[in-house]
Amino acid sequence: MRVIFLIFLSLFIVSSSYSSELNLFTSRHYPSDLILFKKFEEKTGIKVNVINAKSKVLEKRLLDEGSKSKGDVLFLADAGALYSAEEKKLFTKYNESQSLRLVPTSLKNGYWVGITKRARIIFYNPNLVDYNDIKNISYEDLSDERWTKSIAIRQSNNIYNQSLVASILEHKGENFTTKWLEKLVKNFSRKPQGNDRAQILSVAAGESKLAIANTYYYGLMLSGKKGDDQKKAAQKVEPIFPNQNDRGAHVNISGAGILKFSPNKKNAQSFIEFLLTKEAQTILCNSSFEFPIIENVSTNKIINKIKNFKEDINIDVSTYGKRQAQAFKLMQKAGWN
Ligand code: FE
Repeated sequence: MRVIFLIFLSLFIVSSSYSSELNLFTSRHYPSDLILFKKFEEKTGIKVNVINAKSKVLEKRLLDEGSKSKGDVLFLADAGALYSAEEKKLFTKYNESQSLRLVPTSLKNGYWVGITKRARIIFYNPNLVDYNDIKNISYEDLSDERWTKSIAIRQSNNIYNQSLVASILEHKGENFTTKWLEKLVKNFSRKPQGNDRAQILSVAAGESKLAIANTYYYGLMLSGKKGDDQKKAAQKVEPIFPNQNDRGAHVNISGAGILKFSPNKKNAQSFIEFLLTKEAQTILCNSSFEFPIIENVSTNKIINKIKNFKEDINIDVSTYGKRQAQAFKLMQKAGWN
């Protein structure tokens, strides 16, 4: 019986082309990520099993499963989401190998490392706003009376907005931020609603003068992947990177970390290192329109058009997570629904 079992087992191992596996929990939703994971499988013989859901759903599942979890890597968008998982002690420390050292210190923290970058910036309608009146704009200026009923932005429960406000809190303090938020809310062109692309659509339609959105949504719309109407709308707006004369535009990351109870920690480390290769960075960014996190990565035309700007690198992205709750409270207090 035992011999038969061993024969069966060895047959199974021979028939499978994979020597081991990796269970990837990811909130990313780009079909081309799958092409990338296939490349990793081919290179390493490690099979990638993808568990895809929203970050809060993944976080809850990992918490529920506890030490029984088979999850190896958690890959999430926004430093705020990574920080939240870290606070719940879901990660173990990665090994700061050569490829991880390529990532700037402000974009990693020992438990998770940035894989791609995105900026949260302003998009304006050139038919309604003169370039010269906006070219030197800062986030702080968005509370100016001249922008009364002009700004389209999504709701306060959105983590990208919370991270942006967290950065204002860090740079300018609570007093300033409280007053800034009160005035900013008066400048909303409509009740906050919809996703980032909906804000750009509002500006394209002339309903709002300015939109706040992440850079990659603009890229996605321009690419035509979201249909012709969205492509035409994106062509009607222009991006403006705020705070170019001082600290730079607000930059966030999507990033990954090794899960505490990972049964395949070595594979998890290799996978993260793979995501930081130039080849992987090109594939990741060309499909999602995010920016590469390491230098000298070739990217497509759409990204090249928007990737040269001054980034706010004087802030550790962990701060967005640390100040998220405080930011959300102040946003709600100011009447930001
Ligand atoms: Fe997004």
